[in-house]
Amino acid sequence: MIFLLLISLAFLLLRIQDESNETAVDVSVIASCPACEEEISIDWMVCPHCLQRLRESCPSCQKRKLISHSFCTSCGSGTQG
Ligand SMILES: [Zn+2]
Ligand SMILES: [Zn+2]
Repeated sequence: MIFLLLISLAFLLLRIQDESNETAVDVSVIASCPACEEEISIDWMVCPHCLQRLRESCPSCQKRKLISHSFCTSCGSGTQG
């Protein structure tokens, strides 16, 4: 039992080392296009792969929101109805 514990601990340490060695890639900004499912950045207005529009202006607060969101993430407009 202790042997197994040590092995998993060693794996854990190896994984932590691997992750710290990797160049920082912010995976949180990577999303997939709702139309073609290619990788896109959430900051992009238009998908470069299929030219699908990814964002539109909120009619309530005029801030840009993701088209795939049915409601505005800035002001919450669209949550009712
Ligand atoms: Zn696309
Ligand atoms: Zn809004």
